[in-house]
Amino acid sequence: MPDARPVILFAAKTERWEQYSGPLRTALKDAGLGYATLTTEAAPEDVDYVVYAPNSGLTDFTPFTRLKAVLNLWAGVEDVTGNPTLKAPLARMVDDCLTEGMVEWVTGHVLRHHLGMDLYLDGQDGVWRAGTAPPLARDRTVAMLGLGVLGAACATMLASLNFRVLGWSRSRKDLPGVETEHGAEGLDRVLSRAEIVVLLLPDTPATESTLNARTLSLLPRGAVIVNPGRGRLIDDDALLAALDEGQVGHATLDVFRTEPLPPEHPYWAHPKVTVTPHIASETRAVSASRVIVENIRRGEAGEPFLNLVDRDAGY
Ligand code: NAP
Repeated sequence: MPDARPVILFAAKTERWEQYSGPLRTALKDAGLGYATLTTEAAPEDVDYVVYAPNSGLTDFTPFTRLKAVLNLWAGVEDVTGNPTLKAPLARMVDDCLTEGMVEWVTGHVLRHHLGMDLYLDGQDGVWRAGTAPPLARDRTVAMLGLGVLGAACATMLASLNFRVLGWSRSRKDLPGVETEHGAEGLDRVLSRAEIVVLLLPDTPATESTLNARTLSLLPRGAVIVNPGRGRLIDDDALLAALDEGQVGHATLDVFRTEPLPPEHPYWAHPKVTVTPHIASETRAVSASRVIVENIRRGEAGEPFLNLVDRDAGY
């Protein structure tokens, strides 16, 4: 008779196991699944669920013959969604705390540029810079590229602060306080008005280099880019050129095509670039564990999984 206890393989780097094993066990217990086996090592044919970080080294799912789902630890799934050996459903991380962190990071960096804070932080030099008061948010246009879980929450927060918020997504969206566009022409219209552009698109073949020489040239001169999405959304050479000739006023970048960003990369030394080390919003172990366990509970109860990735769309 088969063992009815679900086997959950935690496939991520060792330091993650140290963070997650306690919260996952607590969440399993709270969900009435305290009898499940949670482990970092199991025979693939015994595994029901994989809690997954794509940099774990696990790339061949072929021997996982009874897999019910792969539960990604991160919101971005670009490193797993195209894996042809994965036939089981793939869920990504959607978690209120992750969203909350992103809303705080985006709002903070948008306000930095909106208020022109750098002028005063850099300028403690005895010069009284009269006449530099910023406009009100109602007179500042911010574009949110991507209106999914994170983009919609950030757009809504910025709209609540009275910014003129333009949003862009693949399909048509209706979001209170946000003027929305979709599709290729919609992007051009949004960018031609955007003083601050925030990127919260997923990394897919269709979103690669969304900001390139052509689209950057559509922006009002001196516009600011804020990218907590993914590095591949931007053509780096085109952005550096646009920064150098003043078309783009500043870029605050949290994500890069290569991470960690190599020390010799021109972004580090560029006076108009702020680099942050992929910290816009971290997955928090306690809240993320609850999200993962809710999907395991659903799998065991025969209910549909939450947050499934559309493998064809790539996100
Ligand atoms: P999501 O819910 O899947 O939303 C993605 C949004 O992008 C949707 O609005 C989608 O349009 C839009 N989109 C996708 N492809 C498009 C295309 N070709 N043209 C126009 N719009 C397109 O994702 P999320 O949870 O908001 O997360 C967004 C990204 O944030 C993640 O993929 C990840 O890369 C990044 N992230 C970064 C950090 C960090 O710390 N830096 C943390 C978490 C996440 P539809 O609404 O029409 O589907």
